[in-house]
Amino acid sequence: MKKVYTIGRYFRKKFGEDVYKVPLSIAGFTCPNIDGTVAKGGCTFCLNESFSPNLAEKPSKKFYLKPDSSENPLLNKQLEQVRWQYGVTAARLRGKYGVEKFLAYFQSFTNTYAPLATLEALYEEALRQPGCVGLSIGTRSDSVDDAILDYLAELSKEYEVWVEYGIQSVYDETLQKINRGHDSENVREWIEKTKAKGLKVCGHVIFGLPDETEEMMLKTVERSIEWGIDSIKIHPLYVVKNTALAVDYLKGKFTPIDEATYIRLVVEAIKMLPPTLSVQRLTAGINDETLLAPEWCCCKHTQMKHLREALKKAGYIY
Ligand code: SF4
Repeated sequence: MKKVYTIGRYFRKKFGEDVYKVPLSIAGFTCPNIDGTVAKGGCTFCLNESFSPNLAEKPSKKFYLKPDSSENPLLNKQLEQVRWQYGVTAARLRGKYGVEKFLAYFQSFTNTYAPLATLEALYEEALRQPGCVGLSIGTRSDSVDDAILDYLAELSKEYEVWVEYGIQSVYDETLQKINRGHDSENVREWIEKTKAKGLKVCGHVIFGLPDETEEMMLKTVERSIEWGIDSIKIHPLYVVKNTALAVDYLKGKFTPIDEATYIRLVVEAIKMLPPTLSVQRLTAGINDETLLAPEWCCCKHTQMKHLREALKKAGYIY
């Protein structure tokens, strides 16, 4: 039996103990695919305010950052959010698992889509929190530049720094169908530049995107490996209410991937990974009334059980 090289195993090897990610969601951040800079409405599967007409506070009344924003009236609130969210989650993880080391994970929206001064203040506040050994920054390949990556490369001399890019698919026709707002060449370019600066890259890919064949999904994994990602997250495309994808699904224009196919493809993907490439996630789901389809994505625990069984049959321990 081979052990899948999970991110947990990577951290234990590097730090000699468990390191857990602490997710952070900071007010004022948005995405160039939502605010109209590259597209409007966001990725078709993304639940954002443009598809939530019942929100009490309309997007236009809020302040959102852009890289060229001349001021950031939310900075003090954002710094407080970093301290508070980190403190609460780290305390829970310490109590539940006895872990003492954490990565601050800037997760929601596009976490480099703001002036560099704001990013520096927020990242450095996170790094000052007790037990924080580094950062993981979720972003898009069209929302980084050399100045941001050079700054992160400096931080990486002292801390563990990961940049997480949504790859989703290497097929431009698919990226257009999901209204991604950039092409796959842009992802390749910035993954390679990020790697060249000595930073670690995690790539997100999605199985079950509109009209993709199994061969296309595995080609996305193959290309992502060639581009040099250090870690991978794979998840199925599921439909959330109040999204553009939900409209397509309800009109019969989109059929979600079935669980057996998804599991078979994940096992194939695992077989393709080089031994040094870690795995951060193999599935995803949502256990509430916002999930429209497929039903098997409602329970992550059951999904993982089925995945572990299939991996075991293929000779892997997850
Ligand atoms: S890049 Fe992320 S935040 Fe932006 S629209 Fe797509 S899924 Fe939503």
